[in-house]
Amino acid sequence: MQCPECGSTHIRKNGIKKGKQNHICVDCKRQFVDRYEAHKGYSDEVKRECLKLYVNGMGFRAIERVKGVHHTTIITWVKQVGERLPDA
Ligand SMILES: [Zn+2]
Repeated sequence: MQCPECGSTHIRKNGIKKGKQNHICVDCKRQFVDRYEAHKGYSDEVKRECLKLYVNGMGFRAIERVKGVHHTTIITWVKQVGERLPDA
């Protein structure tokens, strides 16, 4: 479980909303429901940041240390995006 806003994993449960578990990010106070868990963890924001670091010459292991995203996940993202990486 990760905050869709800031990527923090410092999450607390915040009651039930419309039958779904609501969560709140302790770091930025953003509230969100379980749907972010559906696509296994990382938000597009985190993905974009990792790809940006990669484009800027950072290695997979270094990105893993900084962002807390496993390097094989990052490699998968890079393959997905392929040659169409932006000039960050
Ligand atoms: Zn947050």
